[in-house]
Amino acid sequence: MVSPLPTYPTTHLPNSAKRVLLVTGGSRGIGAATAELAAERGYAVCVNFRKNQAAAEAVVATIEAGGGTAVAVQADVSSEPDVLQLFETVDARLGPLAALVNNAGVLERQTRVEHVDAARLQRVFATNVTGAFLCAREAVKRLSTAHGGAGGAIVNVSSRAAQLGAPGEYVDYAASKAALDALTIGLAREVAGEGIRVNGVRAGIIYTDIHADGGEPDRVDRLGPTLPMKRGGHAIEVARAILWLLSDEASYSTGTFIDVAGGR
Ligand code: NAP
Repeated sequence: MVSPLPTYPTTHLPNSAKRVLLVTGGSRGIGAATAELAAERGYAVCVNFRKNQAAAEAVVATIEAGGGTAVAVQADVSSEPDVLQLFETVDARLGPLAALVNNAGVLERQTRVEHVDAARLQRVFATNVTGAFLCAREAVKRLSTAHGGAGGAIVNVSSRAAQLGAPGEYVDYAASKAALDALTIGLAREVAGEGIRVNGVRAGIIYTDIHADGGEPDRVDRLGPTLPMKRGGHAIEVARAILWLLSDEASYSTGTFIDVAGGR
């Protein structure tokens, strides 16, 4: 017998209700592109940021100018009290969560492993791994049918570096993204029977501010021509893959990854 297609959160909501999405690190780069595209597709979006309130408010203003719904909420995802407050704010201001994009991520100056100290490792893993775990935990508490939720979707924003290792640049960052990929695989299987899909997008070399944090603002222009597609990627190209994985179009995909890396 053919099993029936499952229903998803939107199908439980009146037509006027919007699916609520939290994008961590939604103030800039890939997170901002994701927040804006999600709003165009009808989500009510929480634009989380850590420091850059002006950038987060600009994303909210763009969304509102297009007739969408968004709020900017400050929280450092590596801080457990901040994460609790972030999710409570989403509950109170936007309503029941339907989806999470674990996008907030950091890297530090390009260097070799012999120059990496414990403090740096703690900073990189605190945001990229601990932050993603804490946000995933709070999302599962709200989405899981085992907790009375309506199901939903989580997308973790990873990197091709998780598989390539980023030698000579930031092996610590690559290792943190490999840990994030393990979270994607393990959590996906853990909650697959509870209405939650968990997937990852592994971005390649994308035009955002993050490369300046690594000490090379023009890194995308340097490496773009060496890639199979002969160019760097744009944040919107990653956002489109994220939105597909969040959507009902991806209803039978979980624990899997889309590489958005120009063939790298
Ligand atoms: P970005 O332009 O530097 O933006 C980073 C975003 O994360 C900002 O919104 C920042 O907030 C936020 N953020 C950083 N730490 C945070 C924390 N502890 N708590 C909450 N928010 C925090 O970076 P991006 O390039 O768009 O990167 C987004 C994701 O894509 C990251 O996970 C990154 O590792 C991944 N990625 C990027 C590339 C690439 O080539 N760009 C490639 C592969 C993967 P503020 O604005 O407040 O600082």
